[in-house]
Amino acid sequence: NYIVSLGNVCRWLAGKAEALGVEIYPGFAAAGLLYNEEGAVNGVVTGDMGVEKDGSHGPGFAPGMALMGKYVLIGEGARGSLAKQLIAKYKLSDGREPGKYGIGLKELWQVKPENHRPGLVQHSFGWPLDMKTGGGSFLYHLEDNQVAVGFVLH
Ligand SMILES: Cc1cc2nc3c(=O)[nH]c(=O)nc-3n(C[C@H](O)[C@H](O)[C@H](O)COP(=O)(O)OP(=O)(O)OC[C@H]3O[C@@H](n4cnc5c(N)ncnc54)[C@H](O)[C@@H]3O)c2cc1C
Repeated sequence: NYIVSLGNVCRWLAGKAEALGVEIYPGFAAAGLLYNEEGAVNGVVTGDMGVEKDGSHGPGFAPGMALMGKYVLIGEGARGSLAKQLIAKYKLSDGREPGKYGIGLKELWQVKPENHRPGLVQHSFGWPLDMKTGGGSFLYHLEDNQVAVGFVLH
């Protein structure tokens, strides 16, 4: 199998996207939603930068920018703050199953070369959980004799 770091994949994809002319603004959180007169989302506004602890404008102050789009895709991951507003405004969770969350733990192990098989993936389910609890473990053999060892509990 190919085992990849999501952070490295994102960095690689960012370079590809920028080469195609996509503008990426890392470090700027989308702080608010913008709506057109029909109530449809047509953009986001980024947060003000350089605001002091007391709320005053520091020397590096820069006001937030409005970024408008024909299409606006919200991809904040789980528990997004803007997604939360949209879910409430458009009642997106009405009649749906409640969200499900899990906790995951991971360690990076350096193993002996003779115990390392790059690309090996092993998953386990069940033990040590009981019959009512979902979850399992994983072993991902990365490069350089490293193995990601983890456990996820629903
Ligand atoms: C411990 C763990 C292990 C996992 N292992 C695997 C695995 O081995 N294989 C697999 O396929 N999946 C795995 N997953 C699941 C996978 O990581 C997720 O399903 C996937 O990352 C979700 O992608 P996403 O783009 O929806 O959200 P995310 O990856 O969460 O990306 C959302 C991004 O938006 C940013 N963001 C949030 N709010 C704002 C805002 N207002 N303005 C600007 N940016 C914002 C966040 O900082 C984040 O970078 C794992 C998840 C966890 C927690």
